[in-house]
Amino acid sequence: MEAGSSARLRRQMATATLGAHRCRLSKVGASRRPPPARVRVAVRLRPFLDEAAGASEPPCVQAIDSSSLEVANWRNYQETLKYQFDAFYGERSSQQDIYAGSVQPILRHLLEGQNASVLAYGPTGAGKTHTMLGSPEQPGVIPRALMDLLQLTREEGAEGRPWAFSVTMSYLEIYQEKVLDLLDPASGDLVIREDCRGNILIPGLTQKPITSFTDFEQHFLPASGNRTVGATRLNQRSSRSHAVLLVKVDQRERLAPFRQREGKLYLIDLAGSEDNRRTGNQGLRLKESGAINTSLFVLGKVVDALNQGLPRVPYRDSKLTRLLQDSLGGSAHSILIANIAPERRFYLDTVSALNFAARSKEVVNRPFTNERLQLHVLPPVKLSQKELLGPSEEKRTRGCEEEDTGSLEPAAAPAPASQRFSPLQKLSNMDPAMLERLLSLDRMLGSQGSQGTPLLSTPKRERMVLLKTVEEKDLEIERLKMKQKELEAKVLAQEATEEEEKNSLSSVQSLSHRTVTVAKPLKKAVVMPLQLIQEQAASPHTEIHVLKKRGRKRKLKTLDNSEPQEEEKVEDCWELQICPELLAHGRQKILDLLNEGSARDLRSLHRIGQKKAQLIVGWRKLHGPFRQVEDLERVEGISARQMESFLKANILGLAAGRRCGPP
Ligand code: ADP
Ligand code: MG
Repeated sequence: MEAGSSARLRRQMATATLGAHRCRLSKVGASRRPPPARVRVAVRLRPFLDEAAGASEPPCVQAIDSSSLEVANWRNYQETLKYQFDAFYGERSSQQDIYAGSVQPILRHLLEGQNASVLAYGPTGAGKTHTMLGSPEQPGVIPRALMDLLQLTREEGAEGRPWAFSVTMSYLEIYQEKVLDLLDPASGDLVIREDCRGNILIPGLTQKPITSFTDFEQHFLPASGNRTVGATRLNQRSSRSHAVLLVKVDQRERLAPFRQREGKLYLIDLAGSEDNRRTGNQGLRLKESGAINTSLFVLGKVVDALNQGLPRVPYRDSKLTRLLQDSLGGSAHSILIANIAPERRFYLDTVSALNFAARSKEVVNRPFTNERLQLHVLPPVKLSQKELLGPSEEKRTRGCEEEDTGSLEPAAAPAPASQRFSPLQKLSNMDPAMLERLLSLDRMLGSQGSQGTPLLSTPKRERMVLLKTVEEKDLEIERLKMKQKELEAKVLAQEATEEEEKNSLSSVQSLSHRTVTVAKPLKKAVVMPLQLIQEQAASPHTEIHVLKKRGRKRKLKTLDNSEPQEEEKVEDCWELQICPELLAHGRQKILDLLNEGSARDLRSLHRIGQKKAQLIVGWRKLHGPFRQVEDLERVEGISARQMESFLKANILGLAAGRRCGPP
């Protein structure tokens, strides 16, 4: 901005206030996630500054229609280069045309808790500041947007409307890669940070609340003066720095569920994009140009990286791009206004600005509503425990406290007590489902008018009773969870013991296969082969015994080198004989289980895991009931061997459920 004194600016802005047309914004839309939004690009051609020059030389840019233009091709003057944008504003276009056509439509998103950015780009002297700030006679985007936004938030936030709004402004410039707070020039270079949600922040940046356009002027004009003082000293500093006006719109829902939203509007007057190799800059000016070029060069790289879908977008390579992270490839509704000049001497800068604008057109942002749930209904809690708890609980609590603090005086340890019983804390930690129920109950009671009392705006005592109930429920849930954990641990321990027993049995079995000298006679359980079991089962007259002690011959080898003397010794061993009735019973039980058991029941059988249990249930659904246990072999995924070992492992256990005959 190249305005003179702040007084002059004040006059300009005051006139701007009067001169600006009142613009109507569409109503706030529903808060749904909008589809990805492309960065919109408008090009504005300013008129010849010198009318005489305009009459003598033809403009190097020509309009084709309201969205396209052509410029002469510098490689071949017989040809023209055509560009298509979202909008093209010719030299006769007014400030209102640009504002209403390109800027105003994105402002409504701010009231939906979304971000928006307007960037003026182009070489020095092409009309960026004119477009953004304007003159008293022709106010630009900034005064128009601020007036509309403030008016809109006043209307939408009026008493009785669902949302309350507050607007704040910050104003900064990026000069030689330093972020300077124009509302507090003494603050020095500020850092740009990113929070955990990807929002770009500048800690320490002044934020002034504004409720009217006069408020805005009060802060903006002196801040612009700060810039202007620099400009007079440094000559043209204002066109060598990026000026960023940040307007934040905070909104809070008045009724449950008390949502909070925040929309940010960046209004940016970028430094001139001219090629400094041609300007003959030296010394400080060259250094400034370097900084300007760095940030604009990185801006170009960011746009290219976004267009090419590169995994790394170099936002961090300059302060400007870091700040614009939201606006380009981020969450903002962005509009780039490329300002160009008609004079021939601007030709190369014009082509380069148009090329940058054309590349920016391809960038896609993903705006979303920046919303969170905030429980602000309760004031900071300073409660006596008596109010919170019943008498018995109070006693118990005091006991705990005394134990903790070793003092009888509750006041001696107020912090832990208030933390432990703060209903606010509990409410914020509350299960969302519970909270939702609470809030809908609140809504329901609220809608009953005077008959019902909204719970969350009831007097303190009732509110506390309600919170206490919620807290008790929480405790109950905790207790149940603990109990469940204990039971699970018990089951696990039991399973582990069973597993151990099984392992020890199998190790005994494997030892029995060895042909080493046995010091003592082994007692072993011999599981009969399946065929034998089946044969026995088939013969109803077989003697009924579960276990039978039988003498058995065993070959023993001598361990010395002498002539091997093999002798047969009779040793005691246990052999299992299962009565057919028992076997039949076991088989029937298995069959019943196979036909009626759920996948979970089936898993109680040996050798049947989750997968096999599901296979069995699936087979049963397809083919109907199993006629005999051997049908198990027909289940895909269960081999004959597996079926056999399954029977061996299970039949005994299930048969043992019924005892017959002497052991
Ligand atoms: P920049 O900020 O890009 O360096 P300025 O906005 O300062 O350029 O514009 C340079 C000059 O051109 C100023 O005197 C300004 O009033 C004038 N100007 C720019 N655009 C227009 C326009 N559309 N109509 C009339 N004058 C313009
Ligand atoms: Mg300017």
